[in-house]
Amino acid sequence: MTETTHAESSEKKGLNFVEEIVVEDLKAGKNNGRLQTRFPPEPNGYLHIGHAKAICMDFGIAEKYGGVCNLRLDDTNPIKEDTEYVEAIKEDIQWLGFKWGKIYHASDYFQQLWDFAVRLIKEGKAYIDEQSSEQIAEQKGTPTQPGTPSPYRDRPIEENLELFNKMNSGEAEEGSMVLRAKLDMANPNMHFRDPIIYRIINKEHHRTGSKWKAYPMYDFAHGQSDYFEGVTHSICTLEFVPHRPLYDHFIDELKEGNDLADHRPRQIEFNRLNLTYTVMSKRKLLALVKEGLVNGWDDPRMPTLCGFRRRGYSPEAIRKFIDMIGYTKFDALNDFAMLEAALREDLNARATRVSAVLNPVKLVITNYPEGQVEELETVNNPENEADGSHIIEFSRELWIEREDFMEDAPKKYFRLTPGNEVRLKSAYIVKCTGCKKDENGNVTEVYCEYDPMSKSGMPGSDRKVKGTLHWVSCGHCQPAEVRLYDRLFSIENPGAEERDFRELLNPESLKVLPQCYVEKYAATKKPLEYLQFQRIGYFMMDKDSTAEHLVFNRTVGLKDTWSKKNK
Ligand code: ATP
Ligand code: MG
Repeated sequence: MTETTHAESSEKKGLNFVEEIVVEDLKAGKNNGRLQTRFPPEPNGYLHIGHAKAICMDFGIAEKYGGVCNLRLDDTNPIKEDTEYVEAIKEDIQWLGFKWGKIYHASDYFQQLWDFAVRLIKEGKAYIDEQSSEQIAEQKGTPTQPGTPSPYRDRPIEENLELFNKMNSGEAEEGSMVLRAKLDMANPNMHFRDPIIYRIINKEHHRTGSKWKAYPMYDFAHGQSDYFEGVTHSICTLEFVPHRPLYDHFIDELKEGNDLADHRPRQIEFNRLNLTYTVMSKRKLLALVKEGLVNGWDDPRMPTLCGFRRRGYSPEAIRKFIDMIGYTKFDALNDFAMLEAALREDLNARATRVSAVLNPVKLVITNYPEGQVEELETVNNPENEADGSHIIEFSRELWIEREDFMEDAPKKYFRLTPGNEVRLKSAYIVKCTGCKKDENGNVTEVYCEYDPMSKSGMPGSDRKVKGTLHWVSCGHCQPAEVRLYDRLFSIENPGAEERDFRELLNPESLKVLPQCYVEKYAATKKPLEYLQFQRIGYFMMDKDSTAEHLVFNRTVGLKDTWSKKNK
């Protein structure tokens, strides 16, 4: 079967096309029935939600079909790589709920790759080119026009060996020469036109120090690393389709003279995850961090996994979204609103309900005894009885949302307006009696009277009123800063624009509300505990939060207001 027919037939069985291939290979007894995958990030940045899609595939398929997935740090370019990233990568994979078999490093194969390159040189299959990268690029030709051979193509083997050693000893300067595979300058696949396989980089490597100065290129490291480790299915994204013949070619070359003869990794490609209103390129994400356009890699507006975690996303929601979008052979732009829909569904089942008032105005219950405090029981999550309940204090003076009172309200306004009745959540029905204003006409206090017979849960308390409001007791709450996040970019596909991506940032992506109030119970929560501020949205305590200065992040609103606003 071709992969496209796989893609079509697999939908019927509920398997994605990669699973189909794996199942078929296992059935056919390929690789002695072994299944081994790898997740191969380059430690040059933090993982983003696109990586999560690859992680779910690489680890998920190994888990499902009894195989193993290893973590390979693809650390062949010391310029951008760092151990900081390695630790972050591990943390994010674990957070998503996956376990690797072993941890490998492409840098562990530098000697083997070097030896392989030397072998190719000795066999007349590689040569040192001393042209500039511009000259080499000019000679590449076009897909329909063959390239021009380098003047160095037929250099004697001895000279190639000598120069290759100089590339690594520091005698040759960075950029002065490269090693190229001698393949086919007329091949319709441009990747075959004598690809560069080694270059000089004069920078300490975070693991191998100054031992190496000649570093292998991706195409000369990836397939070989898969082969050395015994990977059976090397799953990657679609941009590697044109690299596959080269991947196979170098493995064929390598297999000659190796005893792992019956083993060969197979590259399979699926479509990338792209999300609206954000960018996924590590280069751009790094620029946002370095230039201070966001507050670090884990800024809750970033599409990084640490950003999502800090914002209050659950790993389950991200995995559910990845399941929803599926794996295909066609690149597409995935809707952020769909991710949020998956998130709301997951958090609805998970989040503890608490009360918080973001834009407070005082409500005084004028007929409620001064100094009286009632402890009301409120369920933590109506979706899950096992989550239990907690106590919220009720008293004469409460904070309510400013939007929940209107002096002159239109007919269908079911919140507080003089003469109207509402229920205060988990407490009593109150009737609005008026308000007090300052000299500018701003409402400073709202007044109401309560009906003592209407307490929630008491016999006869089921009198129906149209509105239910949340509140916190003025004497029993804590002030908090609340950070409201919006889309990081103001246009749907910033990656496709010609303008610089920095110009496309949404200036309103972060709004800080410095003076909110949360009920005491919310203040006892910690980062990574999922909360719903009733009637408002899902929230999580931020890592900046302290006992003296509480900080909460809005994860997502209760409803999708964005789609409505923009369509
Ligand atoms: P860069 O942005 O630096 O090119 P990258 O996004 O390719 O890097 P890697 O660290 O090389 O990042 O990626 C590790 C793995 O994650 C690769 O197999 C890659 O195919 C996969 N991956 C990266 N981005 C996405 C994405 N948006 N969707 C799905 N998989 C992705
Ligand atoms: Mg890459």
